[in-house]
Amino acid sequence: MALPQIDVQTFDVNISSLGKKVKFRPFLVKEEKLLVMAGESTDSSDMIHTVQQIITNCSLGKVDGSKLPIFDLQKVFLEIRGMSVSNIINLIAKCGECGIDNDVEFDLEKVKITKNKGHKKQIKLTDSMIIEMDYPKVTDIEKLMGESIEEIYKVTADCIKTIYNDEEVIEFQESPIEERMEFIEQFSVKQFALIREFYESMPQLLHAIDFKCKACKKDNTLVIDGYENFFV
Ligand SMILES: [Zn+2]
Repeated sequence: MALPQIDVQTFDVNISSLGKKVKFRPFLVKEEKLLVMAGESTDSSDMIHTVQQIITNCSLGKVDGSKLPIFDLQKVFLEIRGMSVSNIINLIAKCGECGIDNDVEFDLEKVKITKNKGHKKQIKLTDSMIIEMDYPKVTDIEKLMGESIEEIYKVTADCIKTIYNDEEVIEFQESPIEERMEFIEQFSVKQFALIREFYESMPQLLHAIDFKCKACKKDNTLVIDGYENFFV
């Protein structure tokens, strides 16, 4: 006799970059195993790939984890983790004053995507030309933080979605990469600074936990940022 299937409860997760809610199921034991393996790896890209895979699996294939921008990848992962395991993580934080270790509760439900005022996906290059950006893929984030300007051009060639030129609407990604690179090389320094500003002001996850030191009673704030710190 075939063994029965175990029913799983699903729940809605809001995906900011898609502007909609999608049904997810919790992690299963097989996904926890993947997370433990990725946690043991010294290569941070293993964890990113695992999180992307888990999001694809838990959305029952409705969301492609590899296509989500970093802030959604983090946020969606925290929500699934909260529903699957627990939304409370116990951390140890050192007091900035006396150095004593304090137990701190990290409540995943309180983490929000921080949006910067004035951040827009549309960038006005000239009076007649506007470009619309897509968010860079997670794997491109490190390139953007690096020193190589050539790499930043390449990421930009993949991130420009649409060009609005007077009446004309051009789907940028339909052009071959050489032509896209040529287009970017025509930017003035000031115009390219607008692109950098777009990357620098992207929505991000940043969470602050206030706690009072148990020894010296000093008020402290533990700030959690950096994408790897949210893959807990
Ligand atoms: Zn203290």
